[in-house]
Amino acid sequence: MKFDHNVEIITIGDELLLGQTIDTNAAFLSRELANAGFRVTRRTTVGDNAENIADAVQDALSCSSVVICTGGLGPTQDDFTKPVVAELFDAPLEVDTRLLDALRERYRLRGIAMPERNICQAEVPRGALVLPNPRGTACGLVLRDADGRICILLPGVPHELRGLALEEVIPFLRRARAGTVGGAIRFRTIRTTGIAESAVAEKIDSILPRIRPLTVAFLPQFAGSDLRITSWGELPEAEVDAALSDAEQQIRSVLQSHIYGTGSDDLAAVIGALLRERGLTITTAESCTGGLIAKRITDHAGSSDYFGTGVVTYANEAKQRLLDVSPQTMAEHGAVSEPTVREMIRGAQRRADAAAAIAVTGIAGPGGGSSDKPVGTVWLAAALHDQVLTRKIVFPGDREEIRERAAQAALALLWKLLKDPVPTQVQVAARIA
Ligand code: ATP
Repeated sequence: MKFDHNVEIITIGDELLLGQTIDTNAAFLSRELANAGFRVTRRTTVGDNAENIADAVQDALSCSSVVICTGGLGPTQDDFTKPVVAELFDAPLEVDTRLLDALRERYRLRGIAMPERNICQAEVPRGALVLPNPRGTACGLVLRDADGRICILLPGVPHELRGLALEEVIPFLRRARAGTVGGAIRFRTIRTTGIAESAVAEKIDSILPRIRPLTVAFLPQFAGSDLRITSWGELPEAEVDAALSDAEQQIRSVLQSHIYGTGSDDLAAVIGALLRERGLTITTAESCTGGLIAKRITDHAGSSDYFGTGVVTYANEAKQRLLDVSPQTMAEHGAVSEPTVREMIRGAQRRADAAAAIAVTGIAGPGGGSSDKPVGTVWLAAALHDQVLTRKIVFPGDREEIRERAAQAALALLWKLLKDPVPTQVQVAARIA
């Protein structure tokens, strides 16, 4: 079988099937493999059952030249991965004396005698490549059959898996791929906010045929839609960068006002950079987001340069006491209203003596909604000096989704003001599909 970009992942463990452990290994491997230009074509999860593991590995090897298994490498009676795969590859298990010595030494340093059953952790299928695992007792293993198909076995413990994947597996696969296939898979991600996925699709529709063989994938999230432009290895290596840049440029030309970054850029960090550049400070006044916006801002090291104070004013009384919102305003218009969010942001800005501010008040649910203010109704405000932008959005989703979407939309409102400081007051009722 020809070595290609395709990789299958098999995660092994009853706890994964029972939902007791979330399969973070598969997600991590998918992400890192994609970053390294490999395409994960299928992920399978099986329990601690020798027959099921054998079936899954055989099936994966019939479709892909590389299969990565995680889990089931330990010394207990429910750890079947190594003997099963060794048998499939017709590679008898043999004790590797160097591994055994290292294992004994590891136990000696901990001051305990190595249980005899751990000897199996020093067993290696004949001819397999050993990937050292300094973080644990189960090393990684690479088996290759006569057709060049590769099966990589990795321990399930997440931090061990991560170390082995980054330090051993990806470099190994890169070496294995070198010279055997065309260009690597390469991609660029463009991050947008404040525009629905369908509107993004409509805007870039006519661009797609012009940028072939590159493709564009939509990756919608609470925070907005990411667009990933991918070169799948068909283009000569020397042309890939220029083709990706050209595609990015064409997409930027139609989505410019919604693009806040590339790769893994975070909107709060983009805002932070703008504030730092201009020597401005920011404050937050949050009700339904409960501090999420302050968290997003302070997730970034060095944010104390521009962020000093943020308040969570969940109760009406707190809005009066900490932000000087008038009881009359709330009585007349309600706590979730444009006049209230306006007084919240002004109060926050004044009290913190900050140039910029964000305020949010809304109904995250599940209770508290009414026919004119259903669950998901959120009033957002952003301020820069004396300019204030307000917006009402009715967000879909559950409590957590509404809070996350509201935090992102509020950040987006301030970002808009920082980029384009027009002193207009906007009140838009929008329902995001
Ligand atoms: P060990 O040598 O420590 O026994 P192992 O290869 O046998 O390692 P498992 O026993 O399958 O690994 O799992 C060890 C730990 O890692 C368990 O706590 C398990 O819940 C966790 N784990 C296993 N697989 C995954 C996965 N796919 N995602 C996240 N955690 C996992």
